[in-house]
Amino acid sequence: MPVKINKVRYDYIRPKIAEFIAKQKINRLPVDPMQIIARNKWTVRTYDYYAKKHGVMLKDVIEAYGSEDAFTIYQNGLYSIAYNDKIRSPGRIRFSLMHEIGHIYLKHLEEFDQTILARGGLTDEEYDILETEADIFASETLAPSEVLLSLGWTNYSVIEKRCKLSRKAAKFKASRLFDLIFNWVYVDPRSPIIANFYDFIYQKKCNHCGYGFISSKAKYCPICGNKLIWGEGKMIYNDGYDLDENGRAIKCPRCDNEEINYKGDYCTICGTYLINKCIDKTEVDINGNEFIIKGSCGPVPGNARYCPICGSETTFYRMKLLAPWEKAKEILETQSKTAATKEDIEIDEDDLPF
Ligand SMILES: [Zn+2]
Ligand SMILES: [Zn+2]
Ligand SMILES: [Zn+2]
Ligand SMILES: [Zn+2]
Repeated sequence: MPVKINKVRYDYIRPKIAEFIAKQKINRLPVDPMQIIARNKWTVRTYDYYAKKHGVMLKDVIEAYGSEDAFTIYQNGLYSIAYNDKIRSPGRIRFSLMHEIGHIYLKHLEEFDQTILARGGLTDEEYDILETEADIFASETLAPSEVLLSLGWTNYSVIEKRCKLSRKAAKFKASRLFDLIFNWVYVDPRSPIIANFYDFIYQKKCNHCGYGFISSKAKYCPICGNKLIWGEGKMIYNDGYDLDENGRAIKCPRCDNEEINYKGDYCTICGTYLINKCIDKTEVDINGNEFIIKGSCGPVPGNARYCPICGSETTFYRMKLLAPWEKAKEILETQSKTAATKEDIEIDEDDLPF
């Protein structure tokens, strides 16, 4: 028996959208519906294909299937998506494809016992509801509201660029986000969608030294001390020291003492302070006494020259246990060049025909 509905089923589609994002491993923007279609082995055809197959014009395909943009056929348990490749806006095509994926994933064709969703097979009310559900699905998978709010991407031009939506869809999304902000809708940091996008949301990069890492709290680059921005950094500074769970070096950075001979965080062999943390900020009062104006934020990673929270220099950097970033970069780049040349030689040898 086909299902009967009389309103948009938010309680049904919301968890389905979260499930889809998790199952399809959608964890960054923009999202490519073509990749999802290929991965799920659904067939995809252009309107042009149908026009040629039936020896008709493109407008006849649009008329016959009742959509200018796209439609889905469900036959013998298999799905086939068709889209109008003559539409000029790639953003609009992207949205149409995700809308059709929505019909598939929300089981509209199966549950309503249709081979194709058209006004004829359903009541007008049902048809409009299913269309709205597929639109919400497309909007929330191509541009998840929680992710956009977490990143502060609420301006339509940012949404258009980052999610690759059409200007019209981006403007609609921006107005939806404005409503959410206006109504104090709160983004739950434990939401499964946020969890999926965690690395994307909290990726930080430094345009000065090129370092990139994931952190929800860091404001300053731990390598060069500059302000961080959102994005993917390419440089890895793996010249730091391994630390234990208390932030104490596992091996003494100065004398290499591996038998954990420390007393109160100092190496008992050479006296080196074993914790990397930002230095207290101090000032001197009128009597010449030094006093602390800001205490340390606590332990930082073993490669940090600067505190990612406050930007102050770290103990390891002050003690010259870590080289200035320019020098470290030079060394790391020479190392990787040497490694790359070695690899080339090895491959060349394998390629020799004798
Ligand atoms: Zn539709
Ligand atoms: Zn930096
Ligand atoms: Zn030591
Ligand atoms: Zn600090």
